[in-house]
Amino acid sequence: MKITGVTAIVLALPEVTAACDGTQDTCLIRIDTDAGITGWGEVDSCPTVVKAIVDAPLSHQICNGIRNTLVGADPLAIDVCMQRMDETMNYYGRTAAGAHAQAGVNIALWDILGKACDRPVHQLLGGPFKKKFRAYCSILFGDTPAETGELARRFSDRGFTAIKFGWGPMGQSEEKDIALVREARKGAGDDVDILVDAGQVWDWKTALVRARQFQEFGIFWLEEPLHPQDVDGYRRLSEESPVPIAAAEAEANFEEFERMVVDGGLDWIQPDPGRCGISTFVEAGKMAVRNRRKVVNHSFKSGVTLSASLQALSAVPGTTVCEFCMADSPLRHELTNEVFDIDDDGFATLPEGPGLGVTINEAIIEKYRVG
Ligand SMILES: [Mg+2]
Repeated sequence: MKITGVTAIVLALPEVTAACDGTQDTCLIRIDTDAGITGWGEVDSCPTVVKAIVDAPLSHQICNGIRNTLVGADPLAIDVCMQRMDETMNYYGRTAAGAHAQAGVNIALWDILGKACDRPVHQLLGGPFKKKFRAYCSILFGDTPAETGELARRFSDRGFTAIKFGWGPMGQSEEKDIALVREARKGAGDDVDILVDAGQVWDWKTALVRARQFQEFGIFWLEEPLHPQDVDGYRRLSEESPVPIAAAEAEANFEEFERMVVDGGLDWIQPDPGRCGISTFVEAGKMAVRNRRKVVNHSFKSGVTLSASLQALSAVPGTTVCEFCMADSPLRHELTNEVFDIDDDGFATLPEGPGLGVTINEAIIEKYRVG
């Protein structure tokens, strides 16, 4: 089998705001083959930059675009394709947006392999260890503590057993930080877990103070309180925090996850397949498990990313929970024909169809395509 085309498709809602909401736009990766099989991936990065990386013309030996690199290659040889991109993108694409673009390609290649074998990706990865994951509802904080409490009530009533609030007003003042979490706890009730995603707002000493203050509300974890590069801060915080610390959604390469676990001391790592790919997700996940840490997906995009996340999670032993984005965007909920929902117990189910087990709603692409 040979790759005949690699296309980056940029989608965006008519209005994109400065809120930290990744469901306002996205970049899909479509890989076509001479066997008539099409694979889909999705990238959580700057969509137009990723498209430029896919489309980039040859500059020199170690500076080439993804389409130029992969057309003619065997899509079933996934590691070979990844290595080829490492070489041709060496000059500019080993980290950040270059690595994110490669991650989207990796997802699409796994989708092709699964479809070619008529098997779900998780089987090809050696899973599934689990077919259902306890879904935590993932949303942004309300602008005020009261609005946050209302959101907590709404999603608790919707059947979630855990709710994560992120970014927004967190970090503005000690008083408001505490009020946000207090109202979240009140709104959710005592039987629902509360997770806090601080959004990189503090230094490690402030984060430790907040971790102690939030302990009173029984939070499940404190997520990404520090800048992603503050590995030493994460180490100090993780050593002393009374609540588990989660981070590493920003990482793309295996070595970065390893550093965050071994040097940063994180309790949870949160690989996003749209930034690190399915292959690295599973590799990093198994590394974390060997180090007696826990793994959960980061996913704040469409059903493509959610399926890729569930496929990868199910190939890592000991995984239990999954991030389940409930942002109110058609790009989150309508881009795949398959609708993801939680069951009566609040669990999300692993797709069992060939490849990622999802099909793309072409009408949504047509409606929101901007590039
Ligand atoms: Mg986060």
